[in-house]
Amino acid sequence: MIIGIIGSGAMGAGIAQVVATAGHMVRLLDQNRQALDRAGNSIQGSLDKLTEKGKLTAETSADIFSRLHLTQDIDAFNDCELVLEAIVEDLAVKQQLFREVEMLVPDTCILASNTSSLSIASIAAACQKPERFIGIHFFNPAPVMQLVEVIPAVQTREGLAEEVRDLVQSWGKLPVLTKDTPGFIVNRVARPFYGEAIRILEEGIADMSTIDWALTELGGFRMGPFTLMDFIGHDVNYRVTESVFTAFFFDPRFKPSFTQKRLFEAGYYGRKSGRGFYNYA
Ligand code: NAD
Repeated sequence: MIIGIIGSGAMGAGIAQVVATAGHMVRLLDQNRQALDRAGNSIQGSLDKLTEKGKLTAETSADIFSRLHLTQDIDAFNDCELVLEAIVEDLAVKQQLFREVEMLVPDTCILASNTSSLSIASIAAACQKPERFIGIHFFNPAPVMQLVEVIPAVQTREGLAEEVRDLVQSWGKLPVLTKDTPGFIVNRVARPFYGEAIRILEEGIADMSTIDWALTELGGFRMGPFTLMDFIGHDVNYRVTESVFTAFFFDPRFKPSFTQKRLFEAGYYGRKSGRGFYNYA
């Protein structure tokens, strides 16, 4: 299968690695040349680590990398059978992207979004053929995390969700079918998790590292909420919080905090920018 991925940031690069490893030809596109170069380096680095650990042979690793085509030219998508976007979490930008993509790809091409929170129905609504649209939501880092949410929209044709679920399973992932509601399963549960952690901090009940420590050491979580938010990126995470809050008609359970908003506004995106709740410089 020929798979096009748009957006070569944290998610797009990881997903490209997953599908190239599964044997597909991959076209990975980004509007930003540096982001594409970073993605190529990070995928190569990740494959090298797997080779060093003996999980891949050098030959398999080279084969996987050879299936990956990094490009800035959307025309390279004209023979794709599946196009999945992982660009900025902004409805209007995603809609505009699919208007362009649909002009190029074959009629049978499946269109998918990796959105964390936006309505799949509203992205699909921008398409000429919304019945071929679906959500395929990976978790970060995509090569490591098993879970993938598969989200049919009301417009999605019958049977496509099951086809996509089987495809995702063939990539060695554990797909779960979920309804098209804000944040789906995981990001809906995660909003109050982050929100309450920030409120505990703001109320002076405990500091960040104590909250992170309590949840990892005692609560059994792999990462505490502040470490995790810094890992996801506050640009992504703030937009997701705002989108879930708005989509739930301003239900206070999902209300974003000013602490989170200020980090976003300052460009303190977390690990990727060297500073977030914690310092990484
Ligand atoms: P990111 O900022 O790391 O990467 C986004 C990339 O998209 C950037 O390289 C940017 O240059 C590119 N881009 C933006 N607009 C574009 C356009 N119109 N055309 C081509 N390229 C464009 O973001 P990310 O963390 O990879 O998140 C991407 C998507 O995946 C978002 O919808 C986000 O909600 C979702 N998501 C993120 C996470 C996470 O933990 N970060 C997890 C699951 C899903």
